[in-house]
Amino acid sequence: ELSAQLLDLPVYKQACEAERNSVSGRPVSTRRDMTPTATTALVLALTLAHHASLAAAAGPRVIIVGAGMSGISAGKRLSEAGITDLVILEATDHLGGRMRKHNFGGVSVEIGANWVEGVNGGKMNPIWPLVNSTLKLRNFRSDFDGLAENVYKETGGVYDRAYVQKRLDRANEVEEGGAKLSAKLRPSGQDDMSILAMQRLNNHLPNGPASPVDMILDYFKHDYEFAEPPRVTSLQNVVPLATFRDFGDDVYFVADKRGYEAVVHHLAGQYLEADKARNIVDPRLQLNKVVREISYSGSGVTVRTEDDKVYKADYVMVSTSVGVLQSDLIQFKPRLPAWKVLSIYQFDMAVYTKIFVKFPRKFWPEGKGREFFLYASSRRGYYGVWQELEAPYPDANVLLVTVTDEESRRIEQQSDNQTKAEIVEVLRSMFSGEDVPDATDILVPRWWSDRFYRGTFSNWPIGVNRYEYDQLRAPVGRVYFTGEHTSEHYNGYVHGAYLSGIDSADILIKCAHKRMCKYHIPGKFD
Ligand SMILES: Cc1cc2nc3c(=O)[nH]c(=O)nc-3n(C[C@H](O)[C@H](O)[C@H](O)COP(=O)(O)OP(=O)(O)OC[C@H]3O[C@@H](n4cnc5c(N)ncnc54)[C@H](O)[C@@H]3O)c2cc1C
Repeated sequence: ELSAQLLDLPVYKQACEAERNSVSGRPVSTRRDMTPTATTALVLALTLAHHASLAAAAGPRVIIVGAGMSGISAGKRLSEAGITDLVILEATDHLGGRMRKHNFGGVSVEIGANWVEGVNGGKMNPIWPLVNSTLKLRNFRSDFDGLAENVYKETGGVYDRAYVQKRLDRANEVEEGGAKLSAKLRPSGQDDMSILAMQRLNNHLPNGPASPVDMILDYFKHDYEFAEPPRVTSLQNVVPLATFRDFGDDVYFVADKRGYEAVVHHLAGQYLEADKARNIVDPRLQLNKVVREISYSGSGVTVRTEDDKVYKADYVMVSTSVGVLQSDLIQFKPRLPAWKVLSIYQFDMAVYTKIFVKFPRKFWPEGKGREFFLYASSRRGYYGVWQELEAPYPDANVLLVTVTDEESRRIEQQSDNQTKAEIVEVLRSMFSGEDVPDATDILVPRWWSDRFYRGTFSNWPIGVNRYEYDQLRAPVGRVYFTGEHTSEHYNGYVHGAYLSGIDSADILIKCAHKRMCKYHIPGKFD
């Protein structure tokens, strides 16, 4: 656009005309009084100026730390605003971060994000058209309707459907009461409370070995979504959840050979150079670069990587998880101010572990209404939520069981063989009448132990108000922050990461282009 404007400038047109005339041998207009040499010099000078101004049009140099959804989305937004002098430093050898496929027993499974969450509602989830229309990734609507028929006892067999349905209705009723209470908290100036406290106020006590059905339903409704128990999770900021309120209640399970990460590759390909096979080959994306230090001052930033490379820029955009920010992987110089450290440490990085297990044959029911089943253990969250994967992976005989929080940490620290043995034992008690074979293969992702993630997604705990949350996104001098944990409304999700990249880039663009660098956080009572 800028080059078009430049070509349109009267002085440039004149010079071009003079040059054309001199080449064609026609006498140069005396009015302009230009010799061919002078003309050529002017054209050269203008051409150089043209290139210089194009370089200037590229704007400031920005380093993006991390090539997950938010970092790639931020880079795209910056490029669209003319800020193309970018370097993206990614610690691992691939794009996508917590969107990650893995070959397991011949099928491509997702060890990170799996669902497009929030579909078929009033607003469009921005990830949905990319998945379903642009890339046409194979996906399946998850059907939780049959859940009441599929709650297994510790001693084998399922609970009576009508009984489970009654308990489920009660849990839903309490949640609706919770949403009403949540709406009243802020206007009445009352403090936040945990989901657990709200349940207690509603005379609902789903915890404890005496009520395993209530406990697993509670786990399914809360821990399975937020990866932390209701004791921890904020009522005010999580009930109702903006993702489902805005985008709809449906969730679609992505199961495609290209992986859910194809969305990140697609966005990257819109501004980074790719080869014919659509691999990003742009030198601005640098893989295997672990950032270990970020120094910042009023005049710029210096970023150091573990291989002792030094990068200088005008701004840096940090897109690593809040779990990474809570670790000492990246040293900030000077240290981040107290308000920033507090906002980082008061938020939670939760752990959600998707364990895939393969069997020589099926022994579980399948078909409509059978996709999800629960294990009502007297130990909360002990291999509680199961999914049979016949539709996405026909004949693969793979089950997915999800654990969270303390169970995730425990399981990450033990051998896969131990986990496999525990899982087979649980299945043998659930399907006590069946001949349950040993599992042939197991996949246990370890996001919590991984120093580039330190967990799976953020969860909003009690004790963090909106003002403190917004401080997570706020820049510190020339250091900008993005990532799902900085998303205005949708922390914890792929769409949150995507939108946060756009929002954080916009904050940087405002500063770089308009010199409006003061970032205003609405006050506690605004
Ligand atoms: C198990 C699991 C299940 C999930 N399920 C869903 C789901 O079904 N639906 C959904 O919407 N969301 C889900 N999520 C959440 C979703 O995946 C994330 O919200 C989103 O992908 C986060 O993107 P991000 O860019 O914020 O962070 P990341 O993807 O973590 O990107 C940050 C990048 O920074 C890199 N990095 C870290 N440290 C450094 C360093 N020092 N130097 C350089 N680079 C560094 C990392 O390698 C990473 O690539 C799930 C996540 C997990 C892990």
